[in-house]
Amino acid sequence: MANKYMTREGGATVTAFVPYDCKNNCPFCINKQEYRNNPVGFSVEAVCKSIRMFHEITPKCDFVFTGGEPFADPDALQVMVDCVPEGHRVFINTTLPVSELFPEERIIEFTRVNKDKITCINVSRHMVRYVEESNDELLSKLYVPVRINCVLFKHYPHDGMVDFANRFAKYGLPIQFRADYTITTLENLYQREGDHILEDLMKNFEYLGLDGCRIRCGYHFNNHGQHIAYHRTLPYSTITEEINGETYDILYDVLIKQNGDPHSDWTGVPLDVEAYRHVTYEPYDLKVLEGRVD
Ligand code: SF4
Repeated sequence: MANKYMTREGGATVTAFVPYDCKNNCPFCINKQEYRNNPVGFSVEAVCKSIRMFHEITPKCDFVFTGGEPFADPDALQVMVDCVPEGHRVFINTTLPVSELFPEERIIEFTRVNKDKITCINVSRHMVRYVEESNDELLSKLYVPVRINCVLFKHYPHDGMVDFANRFAKYGLPIQFRADYTITTLENLYQREGDHILEDLMKNFEYLGLDGCRIRCGYHFNNHGQHIAYHRTLPYSTITEEINGETYDILYDVLIKQNGDPHSDWTGVPLDVEAYRHVTYEPYDLKVLEGRVD
């Protein structure tokens, strides 16, 4: 028999893959193949159906739209954002491409119209440029909070970290640096020794503190008022644990695939929807473990 599900109060974060691709080829991308090789059944309506299903089960969960590129199709993005009922936090992960279909003015207007629905737009900007970037000023004109997500992949330019941070500090934007999570394990998640990203951050910025849970952790820094976080996570989002004699699959993220299929993990595991309707809740185990986290 499959294990029972457990998740945190409020429900696991629901990440919805938009059913259309981006134009980039980032070397660390794990989604590209899926968009290119097998785009069968990709559908906005199917994604919306699953959004409604997750809302029914966990009416307070967070939704994240990712891709592919959410901003590649403005009309479809609007349909999906509109489909999320009130009461949820909504995040959009994007490179924020400017196109004929979605020029700057339309992006700004999109954020104005949706400012009460969108919690934050997470814009990917990397120290090595993998994508064609829209100009930084655009980020400061949006009507919703913006955070910069920066993947530090392999041999990033160590001496460029301060300039990179200051490039966005100018607009008051926080940054989340992200390690290559494909090499993270339960054993090394909290290991500091040999972590060159952490060494660079400690050297360059004021260290504030650490928070974390079973599956991910974050080191927090201050760069003259700019908040900088360093995020480490596992390449999967289910932890199996025995609690009071019962074995549970503890779900941190659940997914909506491009064809609307609900999954319980990033590793291709379909979600047992009926079992999730009877999920057991536990208090969220994310805690401040050291110092302070602003
Ligand atoms: S922009 Fe995102 S989806 Fe596109 S290749 Fe880069 S990581 Fe992958």
